[in-house]
Amino acid sequence: MDLNPMRIQMDMQTVFILLVLGHLFTVILITAYKHKQVKDPAVNTFYTAKWLQAATWAMMSVPLITDHILLLTVANILLLLGVSLETKALLTVVGGFNAHARLFYNYFTILAILGYCSIVVFYNTEGFRIAVVSFSTAVFLIPPVRRMIAVSRRSMLRLIIGYMYLVISLGLLCRTIMPWIPIIPVSMFEPGLYQNLSFLTLYLIMMLGNTGFVLLSKERADRELLKLASYDDLTGALNRRSFTLKAQKLLEAKDRKSPASFILLDIDHFKQINDGYGHDAGDRVLENIAFIVSSSLETSSLFGRFGGDEFAILLPESGVEESDVIAERVRRSVESLEIRYGLKASTISMGIVTVPPDQDIPLEELYTTSDLALYRAKQLGRNCAARIDIPLE
Ligand code: GH3
Ligand code: MG
Repeated sequence: MDLNPMRIQMDMQTVFILLVLGHLFTVILITAYKHKQVKDPAVNTFYTAKWLQAATWAMMSVPLITDHILLLTVANILLLLGVSLETKALLTVVGGFNAHARLFYNYFTILAILGYCSIVVFYNTEGFRIAVVSFSTAVFLIPPVRRMIAVSRRSMLRLIIGYMYLVISLGLLCRTIMPWIPIIPVSMFEPGLYQNLSFLTLYLIMMLGNTGFVLLSKERADRELLKLASYDDLTGALNRRSFTLKAQKLLEAKDRKSPASFILLDIDHFKQINDGYGHDAGDRVLENIAFIVSSSLETSSLFGRFGGDEFAILLPESGVEESDVIAERVRRSVESLEIRYGLKASTISMGIVTVPPDQDIPLEELYTTSDLALYRAKQLGRNCAARIDIPLE
């Protein structure tokens, strides 16, 4: 039966050499990239994986080696190690590598190698050898694919790469059962449909692996940079710039149908904490207060550090009553906060302004008005909130 109707001639050695060059080319570029870059474990793992795969395909392209079962076994062990490391790097770059994943990769890599060696010793046919490598690769792919497809915070890039790898995994599982389907001859070394499909798949996996890893790393770096640029280092609250940008967007929403409230919050007698316990203790107090305040807020609220011991909260859908309730909740949670060894975190004072739905007030004006209200709260004896209503009194 002619199983290669298109009669595509793919020369085995050429394909293997292309695979070697593809992996080596990536190795060269990563070497240049690694030079003077901050050490990134995902890149290092990926780099080793590429070396191992380049070595595998270099060995596979030499007939003298593939004819020798011991050397062929070594080439396949290098391949299994390479695939294990590459999928581990992929999982790291999509943020899913943890202690469990480490155990899984360590144990399953040993299992896959032992599985391959057992097949060589007990059922040494090419079909079974291919089945064991295909099955192991599909299993190695499960954690990163799950992470890319199933995790709720995913990007379009992650979804597409995740589904591509899913298709590859399903293809590999089909390949696993092929030795049991006698009508399709399973051989990488004999020309035919199976060989052509194998070569194309190997090439596509290499391309997807290289491009996918680079793009996912870039996406991760962009996300980290954005985080660094948007959040205050010490407290984890939004910094003033990104708070202002986000708040402006929420306030300018043309179809805003509910009131919005702005709370300016300042720690009482914070200088005394710095003076009495030192600047580091002051920092811990800032951290703890910021944490407890943000934990008392709904996820729709904005919370930012405006500078020093001054923070701002925007409640995008809260009117007078609701914002009073939230401010009181925040005040009480800070009041009851104990940092350690009986060191109280002090208290906070707040200035609140509520904007009716039909009013358009620039954020700058909201800030100055709430600052005035905050001043009143300080005058009233601190550890309380004061408000100024709009239209201005
Ligand atoms: P008040 O009740 O009137 O607000 O009194 P206060 O002592 O809190 O006065 P103020 O808010 O003006 O003091 C803010 C202090 O916060 C002054 C500054 O030394 C300190 N500070 C500003 N940034 C930091 C910081 O990042 N870490 C620490 N530890 N202290 C800071
Ligand atoms: Mg203060």
